Amino acid sequence: MEIKFNHVSFSYGSKEVLSDIDIVIPKSKITGIVGKSGSGKTTLIQLINGLLLPTSGSVEVGSFVLEPNKKINNINALRFDVGMVFQFPEEQFFHTTVSKEIGFGLEQFNYKRDKKDERIREALKMVGLNDSYLERDPFSLSNGEKRKIAIASILIFNPKVIIFDEPTIGLDFESKKSFIRLVKLLKKRYNKTIIISSHDTDFLHSLVDNVIVLNKGKVVFSGDKYEVFKQEKRLRKYGVLAPKLISFSNKVLEKKKIKIGYRDEINDLIKDIYRYVK
Ligand code: ADP
Repeated sequence: MEIKFNHVSFSYGSKEVLSDIDIVIPKSKITGIVGKSGSGKTTLIQLINGLLLPTSGSVEVGSFVLEPNKKINNINALRFDVGMVFQFPEEQFFHTTVSKEIGFGLEQFNYKRDKKDERIREALKMVGLNDSYLERDPFSLSNGEKRKIAIASILIFNPKVIIFDEPTIGLDFESKKSFIRLVKLLKKRYNKTIIISSHDTDFLHSLVDNVIVLNKGKVVFSGDKYEVFKQEKRLRKYGVLAPKLISFSNKVLEKKKIKIGYRDEINDLIKDIYRYVK
């Protein structure tokens, strides 16, 4: 599902926090939103599922058009299409079993019980967990597993778009890797459009296709991840650190005049260097 921001501005009261955002987020791709704290990332993503409405301009989400002061017809359909995984989603757990936690959202919509159980199992499978988790207490799980349950509780609606707000906070190295595998699968196998807001460019670099850079409520540049991330100096101006791999490639080019290209995996980069010096 494509998302289009048409000259969107947004203010909290008299304070404008997003100005003239005019971008397209392509469907079936993974798009990262970076920018230092307070640059407007969370506000931007809340405009996509109608939690906030623009102060001026419009946001098109598939066939939905979100405009100032205009009530959204069929808001439930929009919330089904656009799933949002907030920061620390597991802090909102309140059920005694994984099954109840994942199924809670559907219950609100009076789903038939047999169908509901089937969808809970499917959602659990999509995040790579088997049925043995169904009756477990969500609070007894690891942070990485809790995060997967929170994602499953969104996947149960079969959204076309999934938005993650700072998804790696509180995750260890292994859980981050497992999250990366999961999101890649959601794009590749399930064709989802994915949007991730994060300050962690090393993590984004290994996952996203495109990047949008926000600074003081404005899109300062956007595009293919290599195009954006290789501009180390420009990123630093906006308080964003380039991914370490890119930084390293830039240094090798600068100091040794060796162009080793841009890689998103350290092993590929090492192979390139080895090939060059052999
Ligand atoms: P980020 O996610 O990049 O940290 P936010 O979208 O959370 O940025 O915040 C952008 C700006 O909007 C900040 O200056 C923040 O203080 C302000 N802001 C966020 N939420 C509110 C709110 N509910 N009321 C007033 N100002 C807010």
